[in-house]
Amino acid sequence: MKVVFLGPPGAGKGTQAAIISKAAGIPTISTGMILRDAMAQGTVLGKEAEGYVKKGELVPDDVIIGIVKERLIQPDCEKGYILDGFPRTVAQAQALDDMLPDALDTAFSFEVADSEIMARLTGRRECGACGAIYHIKNGPSAKGSACEKCDGELIQRADDKEETIRNRMDVYHRQTEPIKDYYKQRGKLVCVDASGEPERLAKELLKRLGL
Ligand code: AMP
Repeated sequence: MKVVFLGPPGAGKGTQAAIISKAAGIPTISTGMILRDAMAQGTVLGKEAEGYVKKGELVPDDVIIGIVKERLIQPDCEKGYILDGFPRTVAQAQALDDMLPDALDTAFSFEVADSEIMARLTGRRECGACGAIYHIKNGPSAKGSACEKCDGELIQRADDKEETIRNRMDVYHRQTEPIKDYYKQRGKLVCVDASGEPERLAKELLKRLGL
């Protein structure tokens, strides 16, 4: 199973990817997570990406495409994978098609209003150790500012500040949304309602994927 999760920041792609990954026994490849890890470790990639990520801009296509190409040839990707946050430009979508020996199954587009995104992202907290996602109002950790799963510290992502969120939403509408047409033309696009509670969407995705 090879699927892409498309959608604005805060649409719940990471949350749903964790559920589907577990159910299908396939990895999630999150380019945002790869970049944040690289930034935390201060690698060459991390230093290159930092300026873009902090401003909410996209990291250049050639950098991201190189990362994904290397990741997809790892043995754990043999049964399939979920791509979360990639592709984000039409050029990335084309590069993905070029690197896959057989076609992608589905590109799910997570549809949610900008106003709901803003409320979600300003309250979002992420575990600095394992990446688990919480929300101060809608899904707090039972352990307060520590992660329920690994006791790691919950942090607000640097790019979850209001001004950066606006920029990321703008970048999404301008640069990423055109991908929907790209997949529609190829008969791969499935739009899903990502508003409201995550449980409903999880059920729908599991059903659509036959899990
Ligand atoms: P995310 O965790 O998916 O919201 O990604 C966080 C940030 O990482 C984005 O705002 C971009 O700066 C960068 N990023 C992640 N994935 C990509 C991508 N496919 N292309 C370009 N930049 C990306």
